[in-house]
Amino acid sequence: MSRVAIVTGGTRGIGEAISVSLGKAGYAVAANYAGNDERAKAFTARSGIAAYKWDVADYARCVAGVAKVATALGPVDVVVNNAGITRDGTMRRMERSGWDHVLDTNLGGCFNMCKAVWESMLARGFGRIVNIGSINGQAGQYGQVNYAAAKSGIHGFTKALALEGAAKGITVNAIAPGYIDTDMVAAVPAAVLEKIVARIPVGRLGKAQEIARGVLFLVADEAGFVTGSTMSINGGQHMY
Ligand code: NDP
Repeated sequence: MSRVAIVTGGTRGIGEAISVSLGKAGYAVAANYAGNDERAKAFTARSGIAAYKWDVADYARCVAGVAKVATALGPVDVVVNNAGITRDGTMRRMERSGWDHVLDTNLGGCFNMCKAVWESMLARGFGRIVNIGSINGQAGQYGQVNYAAAKSGIHGFTKALALEGAAKGITVNAIAPGYIDTDMVAAVPAAVLEKIVARIPVGRLGKAQEIARGVLFLVADEAGFVTGSTMSINGGQHMY
């Protein structure tokens, strides 16, 4: 029987690469997304992977979404908490709503999805959870107090939940990507991006597939001794 995997934000960008890699590796994949139906439809047509729409910031919808996936594919073995948004602005300009939205989606989404699968993973004695953090949660970034706080929170969340799952066959790890060539980074002004790339030792942006490669390693049945860790995939940028 194939392992069943949910990838949140799994229809485009890094999430698409993760969904496709898991599918190719033999997992039964459900790709979640928030609202971009057109991109989700195109993703399903390309990949043959079903897309499921729900907001990860909404706990009740996560519970219902997980139940729907479990009915279609079987109990969920793997959750990749990849859904994320930015609402950048300096402290002077950031509204409380921009703080809440980013925290609720990036960090609250991890809680909601983990809570929705936790009892079932405990009962079956197996689970693989991978949370997508960010180099900006490790180092901070100008104009991103909301995003840096959420991503930094993911790293603490990962370690704390890993302790709860460790003796039960459930691993919980994080990946902290550096700058990856997706829609999210396309929104960064060109002049700022040029400065960012200059600080990446590998000398280029990362590819979504390079994050997917790390996810495949962490979710493998054979990776049961890796838990509570953060894998930095950033072209060497963490050395600065
Ligand atoms: P994209 O903006 O390209 O894609 C985001 C995906 O998340 C989309 O599928 C989107 O759905 C989904 N999503 C957003 N909000 C929600 C929500 N509330 N509920 C469900 N799904 C949601 O992002 P990236 O691929 O660039 O980023 C993926 C992850 O990697 C994020 O967590 C991001 O913070 C992190 N990251 C990215 C980096 C980069 O350089 N790109 C660097 C470091 C970390 P829809 O299509 O419907 O909008």
